[in-house]
Amino acid sequence: MKGEALQRCINVRCSLEYPVNEYRIRCENNHLLDIVYTRSINSSLKEKFYARRNPEGNIYNESGVWRFRELINFSQIDTDSYEECSKILVSLDGAEGRLSKPYKMSKVADYVGMLHDYLLLQPEGYNPSGSFKDNGMATALTHAKMLNVKKIICASTGNTSASAAMYASNEDVECDVYIPKGEVAPGKLAQAFQFGANIIEVEGNFDDALATSLKESYKGAYTVNSLNPFRLEGQKTIVYRALEALDWEVPDWFVYPGGALGNSSSATKALMELYSWGWIKKIPRVAIINAAGADTLYKIYNEVGLRWNKGSVDENTIIEYYNYMDKNNLKPKTEATAIQIGRPSNILKALRGLEFTNGVVERVEDKEMYDGMAVVGLNGFDCELASGAVPAGIKKLREKEIIKKDDIVIGILTGRQKDPMIPVKYHTDTRNRFARPPKRY
Ligand SMILES: *Cc1c(COP(=O)(O)O)cnc(C)c1O
Ligand SMILES: [Zn+2]
Repeated sequence: MKGEALQRCINVRCSLEYPVNEYRIRCENNHLLDIVYTRSINSSLKEKFYARRNPEGNIYNESGVWRFRELINFSQIDTDSYEECSKILVSLDGAEGRLSKPYKMSKVADYVGMLHDYLLLQPEGYNPSGSFKDNGMATALTHAKMLNVKKIICASTGNTSASAAMYASNEDVECDVYIPKGEVAPGKLAQAFQFGANIIEVEGNFDDALATSLKESYKGAYTVNSLNPFRLEGQKTIVYRALEALDWEVPDWFVYPGGALGNSSSATKALMELYSWGWIKKIPRVAIINAAGADTLYKIYNEVGLRWNKGSVDENTIIEYYNYMDKNNLKPKTEATAIQIGRPSNILKALRGLEFTNGVVERVEDKEMYDGMAVVGLNGFDCELASGAVPAGIKKLREKEIIKKDDIVIGILTGRQKDPMIPVKYHTDTRNRFARPPKRY
């Protein structure tokens, strides 16, 4: 049974539907879209997913994204047929999501105040382009391929462009990337060059670059920012891999950094579906961690108190908040450039997900993210500053006793370090908590 897949507007009073082979980023009333599967999917697939870990030469089994292809089957193919898969599914030779799964990290557990066995962190930096973005780019490019797209386009704080450019070059598709001038980590910019993207620098921040790229996309290029619901389908597999590692026992928490809020929204969508299909009986809580300097969600959720309200969310509140930011010239400002975003495109999906999971939003200073990043390093894993928001946020939520000592927590380390000067600077400054400055001989 394949069931049907379609695109559906998330606004409960609008709910317009479109076929999956239509390209649109929003409904005609300008609301976000979801990919919806009309039939429940049987949990006996768990065994099949596990068996595929012995890939037997099939790159779609090797891929940590396509291994779960029945749960993201918007292309409506016979998922058992290698031939059909290879006609449509885009993969970097099975590399996306292949190595990422949750690991125990004792030093991070000590740092956040948790028992060693109860904290698990999943390094998505092990993806081929070095961030979780590859999970979603594999599915976005698959949809682009279904539509015969010749050119993709995105705005990026760096990792989206690296991932988009990598897949585009591999698929022989052109790739335009709009980046905020001077605000992208050197290692990420280098990847966009290396993979042959057309780089367009925009004066301003990420929000300005996104507005520009969306304007340009109407000239016929296919947008791969996280507004694209097909991208979010691939990112759901981050949750699948984590749950599979726990034998589908549900943790108490998933913790994500929050930028444009695509990743946290894909997680909650995955959980909503698994719950409605009866694969999980308990709903884990989701914590989203903002940078204090880019804390739109934190403010709107905790201070303004806006809620999804079963879909009766007051969207004007968000517009008013953005107007207030503009009037007072409040710009997002954090050294964690991957989450330096003032107008998170998926904020409504995030509110929906927070409601479903009884979630929380926390914020952390740059200094706290630095310590979080450094302590992950001392456990033998490498992550970038934005990912440091996860240990930093868990620590803060532990201190407030929102996360309990014996809760099981899975934190997503979203990307690997692509700015080598960040750890060098951190470790040469003895005032930093985990600094290990070089000695003189
Ligand atoms: C893109 C990115 C984020 C933010 O993810 P969103 O889906 O935009 O919230 C966080 N960390 C890293 C490393 C990223 O590349
Ligand atoms: Zn709509």
